[in-house]
Amino acid sequence: MWGSPMKLASGYTVIANGQIVDGTGAPPVRDGVVVVNDGKIAYAGSVVRQPAVPPDAKRIDARGGTIMPGLVEAHFHPTYFNVAALEDLDIKYPAEYASLLAAANARLALECGYTAARSGGSLFNIDVWLKKAIEKDIHLGPRLAASGREICGAGGMMDWNPDFRKIGMEGLVMLVNGPDEARTAVRRLVKDGVEWVKTYPTGDAATPDTNDHHTLCMTFEEMYAVVGTAHNHKLKVTGHCRATEGIKNALKAGYDTIEHGTFIDDEGLEMLLKRDVPCVPALQFEQASIELGREFGLPQRVIDAHQETLEGGAESARRILRAGGRLGMGGDYGFAWNPHGDYAKELTFFVKYVGFSPLETIKCATKFGAEIMGRGDEFGTLEAGKLADILVVDGDVVADMSLLEHRSQFIAVMQGGIIKAGELARATGLA
Ligand SMILES: [Zn+2]
Repeated sequence: MWGSPMKLASGYTVIANGQIVDGTGAPPVRDGVVVVNDGKIAYAGSVVRQPAVPPDAKRIDARGGTIMPGLVEAHFHPTYFNVAALEDLDIKYPAEYASLLAAANARLALECGYTAARSGGSLFNIDVWLKKAIEKDIHLGPRLAASGREICGAGGMMDWNPDFRKIGMEGLVMLVNGPDEARTAVRRLVKDGVEWVKTYPTGDAATPDTNDHHTLCMTFEEMYAVVGTAHNHKLKVTGHCRATEGIKNALKAGYDTIEHGTFIDDEGLEMLLKRDVPCVPALQFEQASIELGREFGLPQRVIDAHQETLEGGAESARRILRAGGRLGMGGDYGFAWNPHGDYAKELTFFVKYVGFSPLETIKCATKFGAEIMGRGDEFGTLEAGKLADILVVDGDVVADMSLLEHRSQFIAVMQGGIIKAGELARATGLA
């Protein structure tokens, strides 16, 4: 149902002279070759076993660098426009302008090597329509999974407009009181055409007064009603889960993924592993909030709470990975201190500070990302039969993960075998 009609390349392309990092976590293959035929991967492996190709095959020289799957942003907010204050997310701009900003962010993400992304929530219904435009090749961007508006309990972290303003949160969030309203909200999303329902089971360091990171923002009954209704209509459910009880409520209610999973305890970890529920920690956001928060006027107690969140989140991520769980790389980009375009900083952070190996981190950012989107059989690894969503990088990303932060290092960013960004796209006037 979610298969993409995005155009595929025709004919053969051979990408050679680089190491293959295939996204499965396997060691790099030196002297690697990827053969693309009609937009799909026909072969990925050592040059020694490369199959014959027609003489008119196109050739891409990886210059001794890295050939890897396109990256997957697992928590992408296309409509967050690098705001410095939470309040600005909601009513600062009308849908028309927010759509244009989202389109620019989507193109930027593709240029940054992200060939797919799962929305973590969007103003109005913009990501649903952005996805359609991208799939119809009207606009450049990652293959998207859309979430539309988010759901939060009334009085919860996303319910920040006081009543005297006489405005709700119609653009960004549907506020619910009780399971009936939760069902109503999901039913509206069904009609909007989303694939994911994004909820707020818990608060956050960013809203310390009444909804901090240890506070619940939805009841179990509301969450259970969301899941029952969403699953009935074949939608998946995720949620902003920091507090220990909120994580367990989400897992008990049947959530399909967990965002953040910050303060997971033993019982929560066991529940997560039992159903193999992926988690998207999004830690560079915390790091950036700590590093740059003062500059942007965040109060010290908010910065301290981000520190606690960072430490809790890093520990949870390590525990989940070591126990054999799945993690996605996504970063809540779209705030002034972690703007769009910085997406790959998440990967560097996991290698440098969380202690993941480069290959583990890349697997999270490719294979697991695709699986989170429910499209692991279509892309996310360099394996025969998958879409040729490929990133060719000038340099050894295993030795230096931070190369992925620099678009200038990209020789080619391909979707379905078509070069959409990177140096070769610029050279041919495509980007
Ligand atoms: Zn988010």
